[in-house]
Amino acid sequence: LFAAQTEFVKGVVAMDGMPPDDRLEVCFAGRSNVGKSSLINALTGHKALARASNTPGRTQEINFFTASDSHYLVDLPGYGYAKAPIQTVEKWQRLLKAYLSGRATLRRAFVLIDSRHGVKSVDEEIMDRLDKSAVTFQVVLTKADKVKEVERAAILEQVRTAVAKHPAAYPELIVTSSEKGWGIDVLRAVIATLV
Ligand code: GDP
Repeated sequence: LFAAQTEFVKGVVAMDGMPPDDRLEVCFAGRSNVGKSSLINALTGHKALARASNTPGRTQEINFFTASDSHYLVDLPGYGYAKAPIQTVEKWQRLLKAYLSGRATLRRAFVLIDSRHGVKSVDEEIMDRLDKSAVTFQVVLTKADKVKEVERAAILEQVRTAVAKHPAAYPELIVTSSEKGWGIDVLRAVIATLV
């Protein structure tokens, strides 16, 4: 499912550019710099499949990756970059809404949350959007290696409490570190059950 044959399919800026919905898919959402590119690279065993954009918030494409034509991994644009122009934010919100509401083959969204920061208001907004679109989502904590053991429990509690308010949320959190390889197998296994 995640062998080295995972490849980039296309970057999409509008719904009419979406690849045909001929296979199941999962998508990844998160604030700019949350570690989304690193996680997708770790999942697929690539060093640089998903490229971190040089200017956070500039990359507004939805990027589709596939492994042996079996399913898509969909990389949504990072959100919450403070300096992003308002037109960019609005365009991204429209595209996101269209994608989440209109993609029948989307099985689950993974919402990435930085283990150091917990759930922020922009993360709440995306979770609200997922509720409205009735897309089941699951939180993946990133960069767990950056948090001290003693701080981890409090962050996890904050995230659990925030997630519990959302009807579309799948309650189980996945704790990962792309750097250390923690939780990557767990996430792969979850995806394998979905696609
Ligand atoms: P994106 O903007 O969400 O795609 O984030 P990136 O994957 O580009 O990561 C942002 C920064 O966080 C980079 O400097 C990464 O090296 C770093 N980073 C990503 N994942 C981890 C991790 O698991 N542990 C640590 N320590 N740093 C990470």
